[in-house]
Amino acid sequence: MIRVRFAPSPTGFLHLGNIRTALFNYLFVKRQNGKFILRVEDTDRERSKPEFRQGLMEDMLWMGIRWDEGPEVGGDFGPYLQSERLPIYQKHIDKLISEGKAYYCYVTEEETEELKRLAKLERRPPRFDNRGRYFSKEEIESRKARGIKPTVRFKIENPQLKMHDLIRGDVSFNLDEMVGDFVIQRADGQPTFHLAVCIDDGLMQVTHVIRGEDHLSNTPKHILLLRAMGFEPPQYGHLSLIHGPGGEPLSKRLGDVSVKEFRRKGYLPHGLANYIALLGWAPGDNREIFKWEELMQAFDLARVNKSASIYDPHKLDWVNGEHLRALSDEDFSRFALTYLKEQKLLKHDESILHKILPIFKDNIERFDQLADRLEILNENLHYESKDLIQSEEGREVCKTALEILPTITDVGEAIYENLIQALKPRVKAKGKHLFMPLRIAITGKVHGPELKRLFPVFGIEGVKKRLERALNL
Ligand code: GLU
Repeated sequence: MIRVRFAPSPTGFLHLGNIRTALFNYLFVKRQNGKFILRVEDTDRERSKPEFRQGLMEDMLWMGIRWDEGPEVGGDFGPYLQSERLPIYQKHIDKLISEGKAYYCYVTEEETEELKRLAKLERRPPRFDNRGRYFSKEEIESRKARGIKPTVRFKIENPQLKMHDLIRGDVSFNLDEMVGDFVIQRADGQPTFHLAVCIDDGLMQVTHVIRGEDHLSNTPKHILLLRAMGFEPPQYGHLSLIHGPGGEPLSKRLGDVSVKEFRRKGYLPHGLANYIALLGWAPGDNREIFKWEELMQAFDLARVNKSASIYDPHKLDWVNGEHLRALSDEDFSRFALTYLKEQKLLKHDESILHKILPIFKDNIERFDQLADRLEILNENLHYESKDLIQSEEGREVCKTALEILPTITDVGEAIYENLIQALKPRVKAKGKHLFMPLRIAITGKVHGPELKRLFPVFGIEGVKKRLERALNL
């Protein structure tokens, strides 16, 4: 059974990088009927907040990424919040110490900082020299007497390590050059990220760890630690970084790329998922637009690229626009209404919105563009060009249209055709001069959806009211 986990720290909003990790794990495991675990890494007590945890779960569900095990749904390997697993970690720490695989280290933080500073000065890697491992009994006693609280460090014994990364291929590490014995429990008793992650991956029987490239250098530590505790290390795959549109690190614009912000802008969850899937993965043919189901079938970790990808908001808009147009009118209205409600932009009657929303399907890319378009429903229109309705020609068009309207029977889009046919022989204006006054009088705007489609939304009465209002300006 394949088991993967997404292990966010609830210290902020989910952003593009995290959600791509979640998505790739999800797509990878779903195709193989495995289990997707959500594990919340909240051991950083100062920065972790319950509202971030709630927020990230809500954002995942909005995207359509559901966990088989984790907070709220439970599972056989819980608890799934690291803050609730402290006794489990302690047991493993004690065992590592009793087996001689880890030790209490009385080197203070000030000393390790000083070692790092010296290494930097001498242009050496800031490797810890393991001095605490060799302290004499007397040294330890004197440090204890000074009130120094120990950390627990894991002993690195076999520093040469090779592994096969599912995305990057063979990678070898020489930990001797990189790190010395590393801390698994801080002086205040908190387990470190490395320890918690390894115990959890081991106990939760995680088979594949797919995570960001920023964790690649942690992986040899994790493999050694897992083995020392008697766990078979999972297979690892490290996803390359995502850069901003100008090639800058994405970390510089995290506010712009949070899932919250994507929701605010009005992307469809599956449009966003489709775009994110393309950040590092390509199906190998020319397809770019995928429904959820298709994405699950097509996604293949072996085709994930190891070079960095660039976040391109224009492409995201394009992908989302394709998904919008693929919706039925009914679904389009439903998604749009949900969006307007969620973003507190619902300013008009829902029944009229239902009728008008599909009219915009072909010319928006995101739902946030609706707010502006829906201004044509306002009682008090803002007229972009009054001249066109106040000129003699314009007034004639509007007045004559008012006279003709009562003679037209209400038959959907034909209202407009019938009106124009009757209008043409009776007014001087032609072409643009005939259509524009009508458009401005009815919508206030120079550009907008086809009048033919708008007329049945307003109905003959609504059109009349708008023409009258324009004439009385
Ligand atoms: N909590 C870690 C992070 O948010 C995840 C670590 C992992 O995936 O192993 O970066």
